[in-house]
Parts: sequence; C-alpha cells; structure tokens
Amino acid sequence: MKKGIKISVISLIVAVLGAGLIAYAAEIVITPPCEMHTYSVDSINSDYVIYKCVDCGAEEIKTKDELSVMWNVIYVNKSPKPIDIDNSSYLDLHKDNIINAKDYAIINMR
Ligand SMILES: [Zn+2]
Repeated sequence: MKKGIKISVISLIVAVLGAGLIAYAAEIVITPPCEMHTYSVDSINSDYVIYKCVDCGAEEIKTKDELSVMWNVIYVNKSPKPIDIDNSSYLDLHKDNIINAKDYAIINMR
C-alpha cells in the first residue's frame, strides 16, 4: 500500500515535470535563418553599424569604412535589396527605404 502511494507520487512528479518541459519547449520559437537576409539598421555609432535581418533577426556588423567601400552611385534613388542581390540593404542608414544623400552623410559622420 505504502509502496503504491510512493510510486504514484513519483509518477505524478514525473508527469508534472514532463508537462512543464513540453510547455517550455512549445514557448521556444525557433526562427530558422532565411536564405537571403534583408538587413535593417538596428543601431549606429561613430565607427560601425549593427544590422538585423527583417526576416529572421540575424545580426551583422559593418564598420563605416566597409560601408564607404560599398557605397556606389548605382544604388542611389533605389530601394534596398536582399544581400544576395547587392549590398544596398547595408546602405539605407536613414531607414527611409531609399538610398540617397542622407545615407551617404551618415556613413561619413564620424
Ligand atoms: Zn535573414
């Protein structure tokens, strides 16, 4: 009798822990990295820019020197594209969905 109670208490604990684990696992939302990131500026300081992918949240950092090298007039007056197409999604620093002189000014602000 006593042994039976002990076993049922143990199995109850195991069941509760198991249910907790399932509930915990259900709360973890895993966003798989997308195939082509589209970066949006997360923060800018004097030396570098931190980006986050708008689709999967992946982070990337570029220095302003790297952005200076990437800058090209072919991007001007166009909206940013995913990074498998070109570097334009790194260059919309003003976040107005168009690459223009405001972005160029931010790259050169140090
Ligand atoms: Zn992504």
